[in-house]
Amino acid sequence: MRVANLAGRAVLVTDGGATDVAEASGGRFGSDPQSLFDDWGAFVAWAAAFDASAASATMTIDPGQLGAPVPRPRQVFAIGLNYAEHAAEAGYPPDSMPVTFTKFPSSIVGQDAVVELPEGNVDWEVELVVVIGREAHRVDRESAWDHVAGLTIGQDLSERITQLQGSAPQFSLGKSFPGFGPTGPWLVTPGELADRDDLAIACRLSGEVMQSSRTSMMLYDVPELLVRISAVCPLLPGDIIFSGTPSGIGNRRTPPRFIGPEDVLVSEIEGIGTLTTRFF
Ligand code: ZN
Repeated sequence: MRVANLAGRAVLVTDGGATDVAEASGGRFGSDPQSLFDDWGAFVAWAAAFDASAASATMTIDPGQLGAPVPRPRQVFAIGLNYAEHAAEAGYPPDSMPVTFTKFPSSIVGQDAVVELPEGNVDWEVELVVVIGREAHRVDRESAWDHVAGLTIGQDLSERITQLQGSAPQFSLGKSFPGFGPTGPWLVTPGELADRDDLAIACRLSGEVMQSSRTSMMLYDVPELLVRISAVCPLLPGDIIFSGTPSGIGNRRTPPRFIGPEDVLVSEIEGIGTLTTRFF
């Protein structure tokens, strides 16, 4: 199942278009995409029984109308240095605990966002984003996936000067300028994917491949991230986790390469789709 935020309304995505959740469910579920996480289990059960065939799709999808699939997460977790090659390029040894920070929720946007470049060095980081469907507190590996509503694509846009400023780096601030958290194009439930633990992940900047890896290369995989984070913080329905980026960021290129106003950033994850971000 694919669930999108189309012009602010929750929709089921099918090959033929989209079906409005509030209308098709007779109001049982609200139109606000964030409200689906109030009872994700009931929503999944309803959607499974609902015939979301092409015939029932009443709306066409304009990519420019796709908002963030999780527009107002209460908590946004982000993981640093979760791919060995990226940790090496960033100059860090593999750690015994995932590096965890936040992107403040005001940075979250959707498909085809046009992001204002602040002064400084803005860099790309394509990431698998995990969406929580059921409260997860002190979960074990075996049950971790049961707490996941779905997966989407994210860009952990980062202004490197702010991020690394100060004797204790400002990771969260440098990654939270307006628009610095593009997500989308939609949420895909894990069962839709051929292998939820091994997805090709890549991004292209103005046509040039900058990052290309597989999510199976993560040092801490999705279940392990849920175990480690939920050992401290209860993960709440509708929370999201940016799970870390593979190697190939601009900051560590020779010479360094940063995003300019003419650039188009296209992020792609196998089985989910592509997420396009523009700048000014
Ligand atoms: Zn990141």
